[in-house]
Amino acid sequence: MTTLQQRDAEVIVVGAGPAGSTVATYLARAGVDVLLLEKTVFPREKVCGDGLTPRGVKQLIDLGIDTSQDAGWVHSRGLRILTGDLTLELDWPELTSYPPYGVSRTRQDFDDLLAKTAVKAGARLLERTTVTGAITDATGRVVGVEAKTGEEKRPVSYRAPLVLACDGVSARLALSVGIQKNEKRPMGVAVRRYYKSPRHDDPFIEGHLELWDRSDPARPKLLPGYGWAFPLGDGTVNIGLGMLSTSKAFRSTDYRALLRQWLDGTPEEWGYREENAIGKVGGAGLPMGFNRTPHYRDGLLLLGDAGGMVSPFNGEGISAAMESAQLAAESVVQALARPAGSSRERALQGYPMAVADMMGGYYRLGNVFAKLIGKPAVMRAATKYGLRINKLLPLVYKGLSGCYDAKGGDVVDRLIAAASRATPSPR
Ligand SMILES: Cc1cc2nc3c(=O)[nH]c(=O)nc-3n(C[C@H](O)[C@H](O)[C@H](O)COP(=O)(O)OP(=O)(O)OC[C@H]3O[C@@H](n4cnc5c(N)ncnc54)[C@H](O)[C@@H]3O)c2cc1C
Repeated sequence: MTTLQQRDAEVIVVGAGPAGSTVATYLARAGVDVLLLEKTVFPREKVCGDGLTPRGVKQLIDLGIDTSQDAGWVHSRGLRILTGDLTLELDWPELTSYPPYGVSRTRQDFDDLLAKTAVKAGARLLERTTVTGAITDATGRVVGVEAKTGEEKRPVSYRAPLVLACDGVSARLALSVGIQKNEKRPMGVAVRRYYKSPRHDDPFIEGHLELWDRSDPARPKLLPGYGWAFPLGDGTVNIGLGMLSTSKAFRSTDYRALLRQWLDGTPEEWGYREENAIGKVGGAGLPMGFNRTPHYRDGLLLLGDAGGMVSPFNGEGISAAMESAQLAAESVVQALARPAGSSRERALQGYPMAVADMMGGYYRLGNVFAKLIGKPAVMRAATKYGLRINKLLPLVYKGLSGCYDAKGGDVVDRLIAAASRATPSPR
């Protein structure tokens, strides 16, 4: 057991990305003593598309963050979808649950803002502190973390009755207690780069659904993924592409070359050319569809990317990271108000249940979707016909963007919610 003398905090949060800073904010506001450990120093870059759908914006609003344009957010009114021969402009849907606008902001800024929000709420942020693994007691329960801190990488340890893994796709903390990823669940890979472009203040974010693998010119293959352009309003656009692991081409694709090849085929006046590029192409993995579970075990909760919470439908992970943070905070606050033991454990088990309830069924559908579009013929049919049937369009749009009312809503919302409920959550 962790004794009071050994305790450095009531809760240790590892990683100050969207999941970590959000949960630290909620916990600190509830009066919990939170230690937030982060390996980098803010402000720092994070490879990302920098875009949030209305689902993510709701999370910012819940946190009490001013999402107005005056506060530095670039608003999008909807999504422009482009295929080889079709362009559709779709406003974000009018919903009860989510606002009718998306936002973009570089992660350099965004993560700094969220970390400052956590500190303002009372969380103790320690930067330049890399957690190397969990400390467990004789029963295997996580009671703290080992870390290296400062420029000299001094070994330190911190103890708390609860530890929250918010360390992203590397999931070092979960791995240190043997929580492996499920190889059967889809993964994604995404790369991005910034370009100076006259399209920097386009009111729509853009999704290009046709990415072709032309490595064998005689047999070009349509890849299961999409390219994006997210305007940042400051003269630049974040451009990138993401692809699913469910296709045969996943491991053999040179993503940087694919990005170059795709952008070379876009109109010259858009400016997506080498001479307008800023910085290097950055890339990282997208852990999807709950590919790492259980989300709670023996004093350790997994949030966001550490729990494989990127949407298999669209590669969006910020909103899920923040949603999981909101749910985790609720369970942790309840748990800490109970005596250690079975009653507290019951409260903590509420977290994986709540996460499964919110996104489990939807992600299970997404895992099936990812498997299906991994087949080039299905992907081709989906882009060719799926977007041309007007009656199907709201279903495709709301389903893929995750922007639907889980309760109430119109016929389409009810259909997606019912399908998600009927599909058991992956475990
Ligand atoms: C190219 C690309 C584009 C993307 N585009 C989008 C997009 O447009 N919209 C969207 O919603 N999602 C996007 N995603 C996904 C999104 O980036 C992630 O889902 C999201 O960042 C997850 O948040 P998180 O807090 O769980 O993890 P992270 O954002 O990865 O944060 C983890 C934090 O933990 C810290 N950390 C890691 N290891 C340790 C350690 N051992 N000790 C201490 N600290 C540690 C890291 O420095 C970091 O601050 C994209 C991903 C990629 C790769």
